[in-house]
Amino acid sequence: MQDLSGKVALVTGAASGIGRAIAQAYADAGAKVAVADIAADKARDAARSMGPDAIGLAMDVTDEDQVEEGFAQTARELGPVDILVSNAGIQIISPIVDLSYADWKRMLAIHMDGAFLTTRAAMRQMIAAGRGGSIILMGSAHSHVASKFKAPYVAAKHGLLGLARVIAKEGAANGIRANVICPGFVRTPLVEKQIPEQAKELGISEEAVIRDVMLKDTVDGEFTTLEDIADTALFLAGFGSNALTGQSLLVSHGWHMA
Ligand code: NAD
Repeated sequence: MQDLSGKVALVTGAASGIGRAIAQAYADAGAKVAVADIAADKARDAARSMGPDAIGLAMDVTDEDQVEEGFAQTARELGPVDILVSNAGIQIISPIVDLSYADWKRMLAIHMDGAFLTTRAAMRQMIAAGRGGSIILMGSAHSHVASKFKAPYVAAKHGLLGLARVIAKEGAANGIRANVICPGFVRTPLVEKQIPEQAKELGISEEAVIRDVMLKDTVDGEFTTLEDIADTALFLAGFGSNALTGQSLLVSHGWHMA
C-alpha cells in the first residue's frame, strides 16, 4: 500500500463514483484530501466521512474563479497541492446530427476546460512549493477508442492525452508528472444513467447494452470496479520519478490494449 502521509491531494468530481473512491483511498493512505465538486453539500458530506484532514469544496471546474478560490482555500487549510486528480465529468448520449451546440460546448468545458484550469492552478502551487507533484487526468477507454453517440466525450477524452503529454514536458524540470487513467465501464451513476439511454438510441434491451455494447470487447465480460481505479490512482500518486509520465493506463479488462 502506498503511503501518502504529508501529501495534499485535490480530487474533482469527488462527491460521487470514481472521484469519491479515489479521494477515500488517498485519505486512507494518509493524505490530506480536498473533495471538490459542483455538488457542494455532497462534497462536504463526503469529506466529513474521510476524517478530520479532509475538506469539502464547492467547485464548478468550468468556473475559473471557483477553481482559483478552491485551490487557495486548500493551500490555506491543508497546504499546497501535491496531487491533482482532474476527474469531474458527465456524459451526454446523442447522435451527432441531434447534438446541440450548447451540449457540445458543455461537454468540452467540463472535461477539457476543467482539466486545464485545475492543472494550471495545481502546477502553480507545485512549482512554488518546490516538491514536485503528480497530476492525474481521468480519461477513459474512450481516450483510445470511439463509440457511437458520444462525440464530445470521445473528442474530449482523446484531447486529455495531448494535455497530459504537454504537462509532462513542461512539468518535468519541477518534478511534476502527468498521466491519464483510462477506465473501462464502471457502474457509477454516470454509467447507470446511460444504460437505458443507449438502449433507446440503439433499439435494444438494457441487458444487451451491457453485454453487447459496454462489455463486448473486454477479455472476460466484466465491469471495471471503483477499487481497480482507486488502486491505479494510488499507484500513480505515489510513483516517485519522471520515469512514468505522459502515459495513459488502460484499466478496462482488456477492452482496448495499447
Ligand atoms: P459520477 O457521475 O458518479 O461522478 C461525477 C462527479 O462529477 C459528480 O459528483 C458530479 O457532481 C461531478 N461534476 C459534474 N460536473 C461538474 C463540474 N462542472 N464541476 C465539478 N464537478 C462536477 O461519474 P463517474 O463515473 O465517477 O465519472 C468520473 C470520471 O470518470 C468522469 O470524468 C468520467 O468521464 C470518467 N470515466 C467514467 C467511467 C465509468 O464507467 N463510470 C469510465 C471511464 C471514465
